[in-house]
Amino acid sequence: MAKQHKWGMVVDIDRCIGCQACVIACQSENNVPINEEVDFLSRRAKQWIRIDRFWEGEYPNVKARFIPVFCQHCDNAPCEPVCPTYATYHNDQGLNVQVYNRCVGTRYCANNCPYQVRFFNFFNPSWPESLWNQLNPDVTVRSRGIMEKCTFCVQRIRRAERLIEGQKGEELTDQKIKDGNFMPACVNACPTDTLVFGDLNDETSEVVRKSKSDRSYRLFAELGTEPSVFYLKKVDPAAKSH
Ligand code: SF4
Repeated sequence: MAKQHKWGMVVDIDRCIGCQACVIACQSENNVPINEEVDFLSRRAKQWIRIDRFWEGEYPNVKARFIPVFCQHCDNAPCEPVCPTYATYHNDQGLNVQVYNRCVGTRYCANNCPYQVRFFNFFNPSWPESLWNQLNPDVTVRSRGIMEKCTFCVQRIRRAERLIEGQKGEELTDQKIKDGNFMPACVNACPTDTLVFGDLNDETSEVVRKSKSDRSYRLFAELGTEPSVFYLKKVDPAAKSH
């Protein structure tokens, strides 16, 4: 039997300039509602990727650091066992999936996520009429009471599968869908190639090569969540080698 895909991502912190192009691309691709100042002030803003900013060093040698954070698609996801309706589960391609029509809005999953990347629809989303035609028909518009988060743009993975099936007219096999022939919106939009997406089960993929770098680490690895997202440490020429 062909080896199953296991989708994952590498984020090279050394390349991120904090431009937030990935945030906007994700918002546009996945029908994430427009956030206003009041949403952030009331902690009700929704964004599937956030760029956390922090400062290192003391004035005047202060450096701004950026770290994109989104669903880590953990192999041992803390959000999954606490859902009473199995609305969030792990699929056979390593994705942490959210089934919207099973969600009853307890928000246990968001409270149990150490990465704080799940967002709850406290209100029905709305867009100005001028933007109605830009909504992505491949992605559900979530209604009030639903939990949501990054899906690794699963609709693009499925589209690539369908395209390949259509072109070849035969069953999809492991070899026919590879990283590089489709990308999540954030990866497409990033001007500095900070984000690399691919198949962690494919030893020849870029994502596997980078995940084995000396700079590689996983967020909160000590919690045992086994994320599918690897981060590459910032390279600081001024720092001594570590
Ligand atoms: S688009 Fe790329 S460089 Fe810009 S914030 Fe996102 S990850 Fe960083």
